[in-house]
Amino acid sequence: MANDDVAKKIDVNGIVQGVGFRPFVFQLAHHYGLKGEVANTSHGVSIHVEGSPDRIASFESDLCQKHPPLAHIVEISRQTESVRHYPDFSIVHSRGETEMSTLISPDVSICEDCRRELFDPNDRRFHYPFINCTNCGPRYTIIDDIPYDRPKTSMRHFSMCPVCQAEYDDPTDRRFHAQPNACAQCGPHVILCDHRGNEVRTQDPIQKAAEVLKQGYIVAVKGLGGYHLAADAENTDAVVRLRKRKLREEKPFAIMSYDLEHIRRYADMEADEIKILTSIQRPIVLLRKKIPTCISDEVAPRNKYLGVMLPYTPLHYLLLKPGFIALVMTSGNLSEEPIAIEDDDAFKRLGEIADFFLVHNRDIYLRSDDSIVRHSGGAQRFIRRSRGFVPIPVFLKNKVPPILACGAQLKNTICITKNDTAFLSQHIGDLENMATYDFFQLTIDHLQRILEITPEIIAYDMHPDYLSTQYAEQRPDIQKIRVQHHHAHIASCMAEHKLDGPVIGMSFDGTGYGLDHTVWGGEVLVVEEHAFERVGHMAYIGMPGSTAAIKEPWRMALSYLQDAYGSDFRNLDLKLLREIGSQKITVISEMISKTVNSPLTSSLGRLFDGVAAIIGLRHRVNFEGQAAMELEMLAADSADAIYDYEWITDNMYKILPAPMIRGVVDDVQNGMAIAEISAKFHWTVIRLFADLCDVIRKDRDLNRVVLSGGCFQNATLLTGLIQALEKKNFQVFTHQQVPANDGGIALGQVQVAAARFRS
Ligand code: ZN
Ligand code: ZN
Ligand code: FE
Repeated sequence: MANDDVAKKIDVNGIVQGVGFRPFVFQLAHHYGLKGEVANTSHGVSIHVEGSPDRIASFESDLCQKHPPLAHIVEISRQTESVRHYPDFSIVHSRGETEMSTLISPDVSICEDCRRELFDPNDRRFHYPFINCTNCGPRYTIIDDIPYDRPKTSMRHFSMCPVCQAEYDDPTDRRFHAQPNACAQCGPHVILCDHRGNEVRTQDPIQKAAEVLKQGYIVAVKGLGGYHLAADAENTDAVVRLRKRKLREEKPFAIMSYDLEHIRRYADMEADEIKILTSIQRPIVLLRKKIPTCISDEVAPRNKYLGVMLPYTPLHYLLLKPGFIALVMTSGNLSEEPIAIEDDDAFKRLGEIADFFLVHNRDIYLRSDDSIVRHSGGAQRFIRRSRGFVPIPVFLKNKVPPILACGAQLKNTICITKNDTAFLSQHIGDLENMATYDFFQLTIDHLQRILEITPEIIAYDMHPDYLSTQYAEQRPDIQKIRVQHHHAHIASCMAEHKLDGPVIGMSFDGTGYGLDHTVWGGEVLVVEEHAFERVGHMAYIGMPGSTAAIKEPWRMALSYLQDAYGSDFRNLDLKLLREIGSQKITVISEMISKTVNSPLTSSLGRLFDGVAAIIGLRHRVNFEGQAAMELEMLAADSADAIYDYEWITDNMYKILPAPMIRGVVDDVQNGMAIAEISAKFHWTVIRLFADLCDVIRKDRDLNRVVLSGGCFQNATLLTGLIQALEKKNFQVFTHQQVPANDGGIALGQVQVAAARFRS
């Protein structure tokens, strides 16, 4: 040790445990010839280093830049210490539970090193489907308690063989403290079963599964966060059979391909999309289909896009290697139930769907569906945030009390806070059946346990019928804060960007419970965190048949037509009206005018549905938002003209749909192509709201606009509105960390509840 040696204490906060961070520090210290020690603490990792100042500086810079892929550094603090003359650099083992950090890594894809070993005939893990290391593999889905150590994971049933144990104990090994470390001698294994659960005797179950897939059979595959249902994506018969058995008529299926070369054969990719596809999170990415394509049309009917992902487990690589262009890999569930994770449950629920089961004996403790993203408006946008991303928290602007937010009814997620971090759960689903509601409760219990949080405040939606609302209201001894749906949407985006109000919030979706008990969804708000003011909205219109009008857009079409033309609308020469027939038209028309079972809505989502029905796209939908999605899919890239639009001012701006509807009807009657009409309609909506923002800027002196709500999954609307607003020099904020749809709403509920609690 030289005389000018100094010592430093460096505390690293974030996801730095169970991800190979300490061995990384150990090796880095050795590389620079530094002495000292590294230990886990309750906040992360604490390092003491001694050596020459310039070597410590290099060490610090590498610490930030070269850390292991799974580590997620939130904060680094440094402090000068006195030199203690350590003889070497060592890893201090954690001294018990109180020292563990609660930040757990998400499950991520197999790393390059493991993949190389997987296909290396000389490696001892050649073709072993559970190969993993500190840089990759399962985490969140196999943990049922903290600290994150093998006995608290589903790997506790497997004791390591001496070779694996030696790797686990060696700080210089890539598998040092890799909790799921295993090999074919000591770890989990795969078997193939028929649909009754009888094992199919074979040398190589994965190879055999690939063979039956090639023959057109459907195979349930146990994966990382749950079961998938797999079928050959080129085989239309197989895909159609899967649709019929799964009771899924038209909703697109996701597909998986071995590598980018395979994907290139059926989809176009841009550099940004390739980056997302190959990221360690491996989400499903929406890519434009090549036309014609070798992929069966039944995979994503009437859709310009395909949901595509790369393999993320060794098992997937082995299954796809035998030469599929792509496999359908859709959630292993019936219709809208949660994805199956337990083997008995899987055989019971999927036995009628799958012909074979590729299963293994590593339990999944917490299900996690595949995440779905789309690249639009220059950024990655979540449609579903789940596997690969959860439980990475959203970091908040301020410390908040422990809050549990229960989310919405559809695409439910929940959110739990600890200090300045908000943990948004994995995708739970639509709270419309008991199985999903059970999963909702289980997720709340699980997150409370692994994050060690007892919530003091419970935040939830105002809708009295949501199961999430009912859950919240039944919880005793806890402060309850109800948050309006569209306020929560905007607050969610504000939380992501750490914004203080007031801002202009454009909250556009299908449905949300309004303060006046109507169905809101086309809302222009001035939002502060604790409160909001409604300054504009789509004018109210009847939803004949209430929720039936969501499933049957033709009902909305009649409502908009009646609004635009009065009762004369029945004389219009429209294919839609001829198909519905005068009897039904009379019934619906009376429901609207007498407001019988015809609640009022200001929803923008319903306007998209109504226009889709008027131009003859579809009368009814098989899944929420289908008509609106198809309207976007077929829109031409640009529009030469837009429709007239109008709003009236009576204490707030009310946007009238009638001029747009009349314009659409004229174009339909003049035989304009529906691609043109759709584009014209989209650009009318964009122009209209951009202009309204101008007016509000003058009224309120606000220049920041926040966009949120399910309608912004529509890339044309999102990118168009961003451009139009930026052209007017607005500062525009959009979602990048959580979904714009109801999957992000729990984060907004947290933000509002925290602000209310403070004031
Ligand atoms: Zn690895
Ligand atoms: Zn082993
Ligand atoms: Fe919503």
